[in-house]
Amino acid sequence: MSKGNIGVTSDNIFPVIKKFLYSDHEIFLRELISNAVDATTKLKTLSSVGEVKGDLGDLRVRVSIDKSKKTLTVSDHGIGMTAEEVDKYINQIAFSGAEEFLNQYKDKTEAIIGHFGLGFYSSFMVANKVEIFSQSYKEDAKAVHWSCEGNPEYTMEDTIKAERGTDIVLHIDDEFSQYLEDATIEGLLKKYCKFLPIEIAFGKKKEWKDGKEVELDEENIINDINPAWTRKPADLKDEDYDKFYHELYPMQMDEPLFHIHLNVDYPFNLTGILYFPKIKSNLDVHRNKIQLYCNQVYVTDEVENIVPEYLTLLHGVIDSPDIPLNVSRSYLQSDNNVKKISGYITKKVADKLAELYKADKEDFAKKWDDIKMFIQFGMLTDEKFYEKATGFALYKNLSGEYATLDEYMDKVREAQVDKDGNMVLLYTNDPDAHYTYIERAKAKGYDVLLMDGELDVHCMSQAEQKHEKLRFVRIDSDTIENLIRKEEAAKDEYTDEQKEGLRKAFEGLLPSAEDKLRYFVTCEAAAADALPVFLTQNEFMRRMKEMSAHQQGMSFYGQMPDQYNLVINTAHPLIQELVAKETSEQVEEEVEKKAEKEGEEPKKETVIKTVCKLEGEDERIKQLIDIALLASGQLKGEALAKFVNRSVELL
Ligand code: ADP
Repeated sequence: MSKGNIGVTSDNIFPVIKKFLYSDHEIFLRELISNAVDATTKLKTLSSVGEVKGDLGDLRVRVSIDKSKKTLTVSDHGIGMTAEEVDKYINQIAFSGAEEFLNQYKDKTEAIIGHFGLGFYSSFMVANKVEIFSQSYKEDAKAVHWSCEGNPEYTMEDTIKAERGTDIVLHIDDEFSQYLEDATIEGLLKKYCKFLPIEIAFGKKKEWKDGKEVELDEENIINDINPAWTRKPADLKDEDYDKFYHELYPMQMDEPLFHIHLNVDYPFNLTGILYFPKIKSNLDVHRNKIQLYCNQVYVTDEVENIVPEYLTLLHGVIDSPDIPLNVSRSYLQSDNNVKKISGYITKKVADKLAELYKADKEDFAKKWDDIKMFIQFGMLTDEKFYEKATGFALYKNLSGEYATLDEYMDKVREAQVDKDGNMVLLYTNDPDAHYTYIERAKAKGYDVLLMDGELDVHCMSQAEQKHEKLRFVRIDSDTIENLIRKEEAAKDEYTDEQKEGLRKAFEGLLPSAEDKLRYFVTCEAAAADALPVFLTQNEFMRRMKEMSAHQQGMSFYGQMPDQYNLVINTAHPLIQELVAKETSEQVEEEVEKKAEKEGEEPKKETVIKTVCKLEGEDERIKQLIDIALLASGQLKGEALAKFVNRSVELL
């Protein structure tokens, strides 16, 4: 037997392990199993080049628990280690610059483990004693038994071990007794080892029989050693991809819409499969479903810094040995490989979507509502993706027809360009509420888009920024004549005084102002067949308010009351009748004649002004106002009841 000190230059490694690596204890299992799998893979490689002769026999890695001895054992039949190798790989741990490094990465377990190659030593996070029993594949090598109790001293001696390979025996600390529970270990194995390339066995398969769980003779294999992403796309059918999706997400009921198989080996290595899930609303619940693997070992499902944010909405796996997993997250963002990887994924995703659209526009349109959120989010957050996505991002009109923006603009160009050369695209987010406006637009031969998605307003603003002469306007934001102006505004023959009289009469009878609602009364010669009075809502103000709901720093708009224009349509016979009933009178008024800007002392002067008054028409005006409110779905409760009663009386 030999004794020695583990070669650490700093005081010793164990307090470091216990003190700093407290956050993610469970990864010890991943580390030990990765080593076992590596040792087995190495053996297979040696065998394939003829350096190891004969049948390799059983290569399963086994994990077992002995509750009475309080041990957890990971056994493999890999290459094993000779005493010299244990000395070299386990005893001599390079530990240079430790303090400096520890200060930098105080509680970043993975960083420390990766940096120091502490994979094996992470077992001391949960064990007070660890033993290695190893028999190397090398001829004449003696089996070795190494033991260490969490201090810099270890013992090493020859032993007898019947089978080639390594057993790592962890004497689990009382504090961590959960790692002696089957359920905990099985859970961890499923998390980290589900797709390792060597079979991992844990206990026996169980089955429910007569209301009881019984053990079968068969070993319980945790992993799928040939996960779909490691196979050639040509060997896989759609069903295989769907099957793998459910293997990844056993709780997910929906089928994915489509998949992308990633496979690149230059300038970096990356394989994987990404799935498009249905995303109807609530972006957040769909996030963080992509699992990141490094040579089939699960690493994390927090991929934010590795793929662009909108891609975190996708599901699936990415496997790359080239993503530096053991460094801090902020470092990842600036890493060149990571940037390339994220650029590559963006391109692949965009190309795939373009290809799907081209191949079958109708089928793509059918799926559009389910992938729209994802694509819009991508367009809004990634310029490169935006450029590609203009070729397949669709707009849907009220007849349920889909088209890209370019296709759509071509379609409506003839009818919907105004006198200044602006292309005006009309939309509604609520066809029922905007029914009367939509009918008027249709009567003019215009098309109306349905824009009721969460990100639609943002996307419209983005499209407007990209196209100089493009404007989106909601169908109720002005009279249809004003929305797409073909000629100079129609003039009515009324004087300013008459219109002012009309305005005042309506203003005085508006429903009492609420804090969150404001009406502005205006007169306009809309059209004889339009409603006599109707509401419009300024596009810009409304959109700012809507966008402020999603964006920080825009609360100014969010706090503004909802503003509507109550438009009195002076082209309507009912309004013309009202004007005819106006009486004119002359009043004296004091006004400041000269403005201060002219530098003179403002002189008060008396002027004579004509004022028009409309009297005795209150009931009719109230009725007209209510009709406008009703047509916009704003007449409710008591006001609605009053309107109904008044209507009956008028009849
Ligand atoms: P890393 O795996 O990052 O190299 P570890 O501390 O986990 O660091 O392991 C150190 C070395 O010990 C490995 O590189 C390998 O050579 C050897 N080793 C560890 N576990 C085994 C095993 N089960 N079988 C054979 N060799 C092993």
